[in-house]
Amino acid sequence: MIRIGIDDTDSLEGGCTTYLSSKVIEELPELSLIGEPRLVRLNPNVPWKTRGNGAIALSFKSDSSITDEELLNRILTIVKSDSHPSSQPGVVISRKKLPTELYWKGVRSILSKDKIMPFIEKTTFKGLRGGRGLIGAACAIAWDFKKSDTTYELLAYRKKNKWGTSRNISKDTVNTVSRLDGVFSCMDDDGKISMVPHSPCPVLWGLRGTNSDSLLNGLKYLGPEKAEKSLLFLTNQGSDDHLQETSLSEIEDGICVKLRGKVYSTPYSIQGGHRFFDLIDNNKTITCAAYEPSGDFRIKVDKLVQGDDIVVCGSLSQGTLNLEKFRVLRFENRYVKPPNPLCTKCQARTHSVGKDAGYKCRICSTKISKPPYKSVLPELDTCWYEPPSSARRHLSKPVALMD
Ligand SMILES: [Zn+2]
Repeated sequence: MIRIGIDDTDSLEGGCTTYLSSKVIEELPELSLIGEPRLVRLNPNVPWKTRGNGAIALSFKSDSSITDEELLNRILTIVKSDSHPSSQPGVVISRKKLPTELYWKGVRSILSKDKIMPFIEKTTFKGLRGGRGLIGAACAIAWDFKKSDTTYELLAYRKKNKWGTSRNISKDTVNTVSRLDGVFSCMDDDGKISMVPHSPCPVLWGLRGTNSDSLLNGLKYLGPEKAEKSLLFLTNQGSDDHLQETSLSEIEDGICVKLRGKVYSTPYSIQGGHRFFDLIDNNKTITCAAYEPSGDFRIKVDKLVQGDDIVVCGSLSQGTLNLEKFRVLRFENRYVKPPNPLCTKCQARTHSVGKDAGYKCRICSTKISKPPYKSVLPELDTCWYEPPSSARRHLSKPVALMD
């Protein structure tokens, strides 16, 4: 089998490694593609990432009529003409499997080019303009999709004369495909479309789901703008592969974690509508954050109270845990202060005479002791809570797919 990995051909301003991979497949008609091309998302926390940090892996049937060097040169011609000038492309061609640990390092930690070199020294590879993409290219080949949690994404591409113009995909057609079996992350609960990008890249839309037939079926519904071509990718999106189950005492910046702790402060908001609360475990604390784009997710965060025993998933950046989702395992008791009691003699509303000092009637001076706080039910369930799909990471497993 010939395995080809490609990464870092695009930049934040546009360009698209998945589109380039469709051209690579077209450029190699004499080779037979095995299975779907793979779109492999890697650590979303790497500082140099493009928005999705996605690399591509392709498998072809072995063919002795072409050498790896010839293959590499044909792919590089496309990469050179199609990659963004600020990107650092990498292409790796390997006849052998690369160890799965490489994938896990790429999705869970921050790898350097030096660290991956020992894994690819026996392959045929080339990096351009610094070649940082060699990291993702190698990790994408190393992904063992047969033993993994996988989903699909059908990516549709626009005609070249449309690139950079606004996309015309109606809410109605998105609504239709969002109801197909296994489809997820098309639209937010408030109706905002999340499957259509806004960057000037060639992607018209991406339809994600667990059932490839549903996605291919969805192609005919979406419009009115129609795709020039589409390509179905097998992906690690929605797998939570980036999360390391760990404890607060073992965390470090740059990783994504799933950990348990107790809410240690009442959630509070700052200017801009971001929400924060502290989490504690074994005397170690960390601040958890839900930022403004997470929408109504912040309202769920507001319902947490000090002492709630929770599981959080998120990424660590500059000592703050950016929440991807949370779930309450055990609720702390919740109390509310009852209204000021009525005077027992004249029925007038009494007034507080100071903290813990009880209440007093202003008319007849009757004193009344402080009534006990009232216990109330939590305004949360024991299910997972997550931000809307437009604010979710590609790797985050949507709550709809959680066990
Ligand atoms: Zn009174």
